[in-house]
Amino acid sequence: MRNTPALRELRRETRLSPADFIHPIFVVEDRSTAGPVSSMPGVVRITLDTLDREIESVNSLGIRSVLLFGIPATKRPDAASAFSNENVVSRSVEKIKSISDRLAVITDVCLCSYTDHGHCGVIREEKVDNDATLELLGKMAVAHARSGADLVAPSGMMDGMVAAIRGALDSAKCHDTGILSYAVKYASSFYGPFRDAAESAPAFGDRHSYQMDPANALEALAEARLDIEEGADAIMVKPAIAYLDVIRRVKDNFPDVPLAAYQVSGEYSMIKAAGANGWLDEKKVALESLTSIKRAGANMIITYFAKDAAAWLQA
Ligand SMILES: [Zn+2]
Repeated sequence: MRNTPALRELRRETRLSPADFIHPIFVVEDRSTAGPVSSMPGVVRITLDTLDREIESVNSLGIRSVLLFGIPATKRPDAASAFSNENVVSRSVEKIKSISDRLAVITDVCLCSYTDHGHCGVIREEKVDNDATLELLGKMAVAHARSGADLVAPSGMMDGMVAAIRGALDSAKCHDTGILSYAVKYASSFYGPFRDAAESAPAFGDRHSYQMDPANALEALAEARLDIEEGADAIMVKPAIAYLDVIRRVKDNFPDVPLAAYQVSGEYSMIKAAGANGWLDEKKVALESLTSIKRAGANMIITYFAKDAAAWLQA
């Protein structure tokens, strides 16, 4: 069954499609900070003005969903620009929805790009105050939902965030907005380049008090269960390649819950760097890693390779 390309095609168990991919988009409010992210070759921070071009190219490649990250012009301890009426993500959602009705728009709901200290929540005495943070996440999710977001994606690993956001959405009569929860997010060192893109590096300390220990897998099942019970419509494992066993375990334990995996910035940049040096074949390695993430059990993959991979699959 391996002798010819046709036989191998027949025998193939996992097939990638552009519809598997979720394309991350970074929208900056301050025009002067738009441009390429040097630690993530090929990734560009764009403005509201250039969003239409980006959406056109996403659509032409057959990608069906995008994940929006907003980078506000001003950062404050209370993250006010995360949920103001004019917040950059809500304006981006409105613009995308006015251009194209065929895309699912998912928005990142976390405070770290909006706080001056770069942590994912409100800080009290140098620690994240979990419960004070929940209220702000609820406000942020409602702002995104009102602008037309299909799914909100809380990424801060606060306890009770899914229930708090579901409650806030329902109170605001945003019943149709779903929640894609970053249920299983590890305190990983693979996130480095992302923090350049989203300007979300913590000014002090680290995220080990709220993100998961990379050594734990059973804890992932507990986290997934909690978020499903709190009302998550889909859950996520992040990062992907170093956590394929976790993706598989979560899928096996919760087979009926849609599962996303996030191929994070470090995974992307390693492949790009090795490709640029001629050490690896970028296209083949990228497609192999995406295939392995899907094979492990992910139903959708958030990846910076989305546009390239969609183009390679079409070719
Ligand atoms: Zn965060």
